[in-house]
Amino acid sequence: MYLNGIALTHTYPCLAEPGKIIVDGKPSRSLAEAIPYLATLPGVVAYNPDAPTLTFRRQPGFMTLYAHRVTITQVCNADEGLELLAALAEAINATWEHRQELTAVTHHRRRPRPLDIYALLPQTNCKQCGEATCMAFAFGLIQQNRTLAECPALIQDPAFASRRDTLAGMF
Ligand code: SF4
Repeated sequence: MYLNGIALTHTYPCLAEPGKIIVDGKPSRSLAEAIPYLATLPGVVAYNPDAPTLTFRRQPGFMTLYAHRVTITQVCNADEGLELLAALAEAINATWEHRQELTAVTHHRRRPRPLDIYALLPQTNCKQCGEATCMAFAFGLIQQNRTLAECPALIQDPAFASRRDTLAGMF
């Protein structure tokens, strides 16, 4: 078994969907060795093997794995968060047990889609970045004409810290 579990450490409001929460979890050991195998699973939105960070799209929201932290967005409540973290720990253990049948991914994996990026931006269309909309900024990020630092809300507002980390992992 790779992990004993993932402890729920923190919850905070999910700005992408009012009423829902973001859940932070701490794995019982570093995920660094397992992440290259988890990157073979379906639903990967972005993978940065150097960090390492691995982001999955889930319905709804995102799940991002770091070496020492897991973040899940758009969760209904803490109980659902606990269930999701337990299911994730099981999935990690199952993947680890079958790692000999998998080829660890060691390269960056596919460019994120504009909608995936947009879902993580503040979505206020405040224009402070010089773009008319957050979607235009998302395209700019993908085309590497823009950087995350050009969105003041994303960089300065602590409420966006989790999204900023996820986006930083994508780029
Ligand atoms: S500064 Fe950020 S929140 Fe404002 S429009 Fe640009 S991307 Fe959207």
